[in-house]
Amino acid sequence: MSKYIFVTGGVVSSVGKGITVASIGTLLKSRQISVSVQKLDPYLNVDPGTMSPYQHGEVFVTQDGAETDLDLGNYERFIDVNLTADSNVTSGQIYSAVIAKERRGDFLGGTIQVVPHVTTEIKQRFEKLAQKSQAEVIIIEVGGTVGDIEGQPFLEAIRQMRNDVGRDNVLYVHVTLLPYLNSTQELKTKPTQHSVNELRRIGIQPDVIICRSDYPIPEEAKNKISLFCDVDREAVIPLPTVSTIYEVPLILEEEGLGQLIVEKLSLEAHHPDLSQWQELVSRLKAPHEPVNIALVGKYVELKDAYFSVREALRHAGLYHNRDINLLWVQSEDLERDDNYAQLDSAQGIIVPGGFGVRGIEGMIKTASYARNNEIPYLGLCLGMHVMVIEFARHTLGSTASNSTEFDASTPYPVIDLLPEQKEMENKGGTMRLGNYPCQLVDGSRAANAYYGQSLVHERHRHRLEFNNEFRPLLEKAGMVYSGLSPDGKLVEVCELTNHPWMVGCQFHPEFSSRPTRPHPLFRDFIGVAKDILREGAQPPLPFSP
Ligand code: GLN
Repeated sequence: MSKYIFVTGGVVSSVGKGITVASIGTLLKSRQISVSVQKLDPYLNVDPGTMSPYQHGEVFVTQDGAETDLDLGNYERFIDVNLTADSNVTSGQIYSAVIAKERRGDFLGGTIQVVPHVTTEIKQRFEKLAQKSQAEVIIIEVGGTVGDIEGQPFLEAIRQMRNDVGRDNVLYVHVTLLPYLNSTQELKTKPTQHSVNELRRIGIQPDVIICRSDYPIPEEAKNKISLFCDVDREAVIPLPTVSTIYEVPLILEEEGLGQLIVEKLSLEAHHPDLSQWQELVSRLKAPHEPVNIALVGKYVELKDAYFSVREALRHAGLYHNRDINLLWVQSEDLERDDNYAQLDSAQGIIVPGGFGVRGIEGMIKTASYARNNEIPYLGLCLGMHVMVIEFARHTLGSTASNSTEFDASTPYPVIDLLPEQKEMENKGGTMRLGNYPCQLVDGSRAANAYYGQSLVHERHRHRLEFNNEFRPLLEKAGMVYSGLSPDGKLVEVCELTNHPWMVGCQFHPEFSSRPTRPHPLFRDFIGVAKDILREGAQPPLPFSP
């Protein structure tokens, strides 16, 4: 039977609860304990797929095609597992399931209540993941902060679990923030005491309190938290802000969290082996020569909107011993005039995914800039659409070519819905989500990146496709269709011949990149970009950190 670790958050959101959960997973995995992870999101949307990135940050796509919270990306990167739809549960899913059961008559005329019907539905999701994954430990993160109205049923469900599966099989971890007061120059523990009180009020006594802070935490503060919150002194774990998120598992290990969990849950554990992780962190922290990469998108004000892209770039940089100097460029800025100053120093340009017409012309200008100036370009999903539109405009000598997503009546719809999708549209469900196979063309840049592998599986999240009617025209002008669906009907990767490295992919490689295993396309993109010299730039000098 699986054991459970429930992680709640207190005081404020965004203190790094997701990274803490991912790090606990790393600590257990390093002891050869199998883990799976689940995120509970209290909002009423069924999934974050329809939310604006400004609201929610990136939508992370699992290989089975679930649109999920970006924390799942961190779980995958830290624990090196491929999660599924079972790892993200929202209030929207829970309530729709309960209401569907009620309509079906499953409750035999009873009154449907939050306790027990909603809480039972929630607990069934825990058990489903435990059964399917067969993991020894299931780590469950409750989104939001203790005290949020929407979160109450989830907290009640995790409270009940202690009795359902037995006290020794459940561990409650609370992550809080210790704010710093400048005037008195001290860290305050009172908000933590309040949020623990709130937890206890609903019947949850935390076993471990992880204290986030931008400053070192004095012994006195730890003692106070231990006393007032009734938590063992060694279970008050300080977690100061660090320069790289990948350092968090090492800090928690140093503070004894791994051993504490093993003891409290009576787990059978091997001696922890974090050597790979230590090496990763020391390489990440060592200064390297930077490579300038411009990320041109429409949500750049909110860096979380491109979380996985940023991480994938960092992984690829690390592979080449380079730091990524990421230049965030708002694509709308490029629309206003022909001022490409923001791209002047870019050694590589990336156009990530997105939906809607805002900022599109700026991205098309970016693709044109990359093609004309021979700057390495990686287009992800929308970034591939943009690259195709630009190349078609150039080839046809007409600015009319477009995607029907942005101009429904374009005479040159180079990106369009498939004919069968158009028929399906009324019925909805036209999005291609999750893993699909892609056959690579020998000798292409894409195939070379994947070390000559001929069939790969990559994660998708899009509606429109390359319009096959335009294949011959663009091919003649120098576009290579280097990745196709196995039946040959869908263009999955395209690239330009007369260019150092201009590649667009219909899928999202950023989701499967790992710190020690960069995605092949990101790896080769940075590999070419690092050697590009921009005007006025000096050739790289021998670098001594
Ligand atoms: N908007 C485009 C489509 O739906 C691209 C989607 C994306 O970049 N994820 O096809």
